[in-house]
Amino acid sequence: MEKQTKSIIQDSLDALLENQEFLPELQGQMRNQAFTSLSSILSTPNKIHKSFLRIPLDDGRVVRIPSFRVQHNNALGPYKGGIRYHESVNEEEVINLAFLMTLKNALHSVPFGGGKGGIVMDPRKFSEKELNLIARKYVRYFSDVIGPDKDIPAPDVGSGAREMDWMMTEYKKITNGSAYLGSFTGKSIENGGSLGRREATGKGVYFTFHYLLHDFIKENEQQLNSSDNIFAATALAHYGRPLTMAVQGFGNVGSVAALEAYKSTHINNKVVAVSDRNVTLYNADGLDILTLVEFASANGGDLPNTEEQLQQANVTAEIRGRDELVTLPVDVLLLAALEDQIHSGNMQAIQARVIVEGANAPVTQEADEYLSEQGVIIIPDILANAGGVIVSYFEWLQGRETQFYSEEEVYRMLLEKMKNTMDLIFPQFFGDPFPLRQNCYIHSVRRLSTILYRQGQLY
Ligand code: GLU
Repeated sequence: MEKQTKSIIQDSLDALLENQEFLPELQGQMRNQAFTSLSSILSTPNKIHKSFLRIPLDDGRVVRIPSFRVQHNNALGPYKGGIRYHESVNEEEVINLAFLMTLKNALHSVPFGGGKGGIVMDPRKFSEKELNLIARKYVRYFSDVIGPDKDIPAPDVGSGAREMDWMMTEYKKITNGSAYLGSFTGKSIENGGSLGRREATGKGVYFTFHYLLHDFIKENEQQLNSSDNIFAATALAHYGRPLTMAVQGFGNVGSVAALEAYKSTHINNKVVAVSDRNVTLYNADGLDILTLVEFASANGGDLPNTEEQLQQANVTAEIRGRDELVTLPVDVLLLAALEDQIHSGNMQAIQARVIVEGANAPVTQEADEYLSEQGVIIIPDILANAGGVIVSYFEWLQGRETQFYSEEEVYRMLLEKMKNTMDLIFPQFFGDPFPLRQNCYIHSVRRLSTILYRQGQLY
């Protein structure tokens, strides 16, 4: 993943230089110098904070859990990004996820920089009391560097509203301040969270895919028809007919995106497969997503994974191996689990021609290049999954104003913001030979370079 982001960023920087889009007001040596400063700013985080959380367990043992907060860049505003709870978390990964947050916020004009946290542990292996202590200790260790105007954490894989509530409460205690509502986002509604925040990423992911393959083509069909761009051909081949979809991951992102697709009965798209950490469920006629969501929420988040459980849930599906999902014969693959899911080992078996990145970095660089060369459209993470951080921004605003918006208002503002970004990106994407990811990176980097230059940071 780190190789991927670094080399794409280098390509984007080169493309900016080539197209004269990098600070056109600068000439010669000044320009080269500014360019070198920009690449070094982007390729290194501003700060890396780490610590071992000392946690006494319920059984009396004491463990020390490695934890991180990486602050990549704050040129656009306070650092912002989730805290990942996962046993595979490591420093390099958190750095790269923080970097993606900088690009994501720049892309969508969210006035935040990029940050990310990580705690190396499997939350399923801890009791609620232990988890509470871990959350509070995390805040105690990092309280000097976080805060509503400094760095605002949020949920990520393995964490949710419960953790954010605990963390905000600890922050409030430590700082004795009054602006604590803006210190964490993704909190519960009762505790100052925003309506629609939990669903925001999944809804945004579905919206991006639908906007690209439906609304945008509808408006631009003629231009796309006369274009010889391979991606335009892929988009047109998916326009005006019902599509089949497989969704990897049935957590906060995957289950909500799958439900959106399932409810969009007017366009007859079908979710034919879903998977989680245990299993893939497949039904060529379409799965009953509503029932599966109900089953998962009553069963610790897991999909039914035996014949008895399927019967109990009253769902018709074939049980397949967990990793089979990505190679199924479908039009659209929606990846909402972890990174590096499509890689050199399975890229040749991918049948979908459209891939939507609900997770961060689920396609490796090698697979990305291979699939893009064949005209597969990959809607990248920083475009597709920004719904979460966008509504986090609304939550932060609501906390400041202590005025809360209706759910309808939140969704209207969310979709409008994502649509504005897409209306900037898509026309360019179909007009040049770069994949969509590169277009998004170029756009983010251009925005960052202008801001950094105006701030006098590019010398
Ligand atoms: N963890 C989410 C992401 O990767 C949300 C971050 C936030 O709301 O700050 O975008």
